Amino acid sequence: MKIMKILVINCGSSSLKYQLIESTDGNVLAKGLAERIGINDSMLTHNANGEKIKIKKDMKDHKDAIKLVLDALVNSDYGVIKDMSEIDAVGHRVVHGGESFTSSVLINDEVLKAITDCIELAPLHNPANIEGIKACQQIMPNVPMVAVFDTAFHQTMPDYAYLYPIPYEYYTKYRIRRYGFHGTSHKYVSNRAAEILNKPIEDLKIITCHLGNGSSIAAVKYGKSIDTSMGFTPLEGLAMGTRSGSIDPSIISYLMEKENISAEEVVNILNKKSGVYGISGISSDFRDLEDAAFKNGDERAQLALNVFAYRVKKTIGAYAAAMGGVDVIVFTAGVGENGPEIREFILDGLEFLGFSLDKEKNKVRGKETIISTPNSKVSVMVVPTNEEYMIAKDTEKIVKSIK
Ligand code: ADP
Repeated sequence: MKIMKILVINCGSSSLKYQLIESTDGNVLAKGLAERIGINDSMLTHNANGEKIKIKKDMKDHKDAIKLVLDALVNSDYGVIKDMSEIDAVGHRVVHGGESFTSSVLINDEVLKAITDCIELAPLHNPANIEGIKACQQIMPNVPMVAVFDTAFHQTMPDYAYLYPIPYEYYTKYRIRRYGFHGTSHKYVSNRAAEILNKPIEDLKIITCHLGNGSSIAAVKYGKSIDTSMGFTPLEGLAMGTRSGSIDPSIISYLMEKENISAEEVVNILNKKSGVYGISGISSDFRDLEDAAFKNGDERAQLALNVFAYRVKKTIGAYAAAMGGVDVIVFTAGVGENGPEIREFILDGLEFLGFSLDKEKNKVRGKETIISTPNSKVSVMVVPTNEEYMIAKDTEKIVKSIK
């Protein structure tokens, strides 16, 4: 079987992350990041063959960035392919697919239009994703491209889980409902957990905790997402690095009045100045918070960690209830993979669900590990996420199906 080389692209408003992946085993040939696109001092950092190369060059838009990435990939010194034609397909991460997409799709004009229609639902993300797709189409017109959506995996949520209890017409008129995000990650780690346990995912009730800068939890019942903690936007749910997660909506009008600020300014505070950063007043980075709390005895850092862990704990309990039980709890992303203390803190008191934590095994960082004891009814696991691999796999499957 032919090994496909797939370029995975993740565009932000002024950045572009990429990986060139071999489809057989997920081998990463090269990866990197273009930063400050459209701003001054733009730069590409390219990692390949164990080397890190920094290329400073003006990139006025995403098209310039893609050109620079392709130049780096074919460069005679630090490149990994001889010619652009070796790239068999491109997989694009797209944040919002609305209700139009329940899985990844081959990009054509109709798909691009549907992604464009979702701009109003994700004004900060979808425009950059579209820029990236259009730039690639111009430079590589004959290469098939696939869109992989953050929202798609959660489209299996039942209506009673995704509807907000507000007038129904706001759903039909404005598409206000819960969508959920991090879907590619929740899908990857739940499937991987089933593989590691050597059990069919169709038999398992899995709770996946994606805890990073942005955090969300999903209830994955028999392979399908039936609930997740993020909602209409990635602001709902857990306390995050700088995001508040769920709050009483009346706080918004109250703060507008008290601080004499606009709704937009309040939402900005809820997105950028809240979460563990807002409570601690120190940092949004969990390493800083752990240092402050455990080494310096900082009480507000400790409080921030308590608030964070408490919400994760409550949500795990809620999702066990939603699924009528739980077989597997998975931790992933920056904090979930690398924070033994936080994992222990979250799990403390949840043993009634049917596990006991192996504290030695829980010391693991960033490696696939079962951290519950062997006789636990419920398995608790650390599974590092790999969204790029998942995007490459979906892209390969779709491109092969059309050939
Ligand atoms: P993003 O949502 O930006 O993708 P990540 O999944 O990379 O976020 O997670 C970033 C978070 O992971 C940071 O708060 C960082 O402190 C935390 N993290 C990374 N390494 C460790 C570690 N060794 N111990 C605790 N937290 C860690």
